[in-house]
Amino acid sequence: MIDRIQLKKYIHDCLNKFVLIKDIPVILTLSKQLKKHLASASCRNGIGYITVSVKRFKNIKLGQQKEIIFHEVCHVVDWYLADCFPNSWKSDRKHGRTWKGLMKQIGLKPKIRYNTNKKAKND
Ligand SMILES: [Zn+2]
Repeated sequence: MIDRIQLKKYIHDCLNKFVLIKDIPVILTLSKQLKKHLASASCRNGIGYITVSVKRFKNIKLGQQKEIIFHEVCHVVDWYLADCFPNSWKSDRKHGRTWKGLMKQIGLKPKIRYNTNKKAKND
């Protein structure tokens, strides 16, 4: 089951851990088209986008959905900082040093793959 309001709450909770940048707008999309990945993230013009695969997400437990959302929010924050503060934040993109640092900053292990079903992974 996917509880859209709960997922938005996770985005909010995660952003709140980054005190100075907690007001990044993040648009959440539940996609029926996204099938290869559990979820994906991007950031354009100061707006974050998180897309969740309806097909892959619906059978995942809430706790793990939360972990995946936090993973994606860290991508959004990483790219947001790189876009808005290019002189001070050099993102190495994807799952590099900066993303890992953000995950650790909010108390999570920088895990990349989730072994929920088959080869599901998130980007
Ligand atoms: Zn990722």
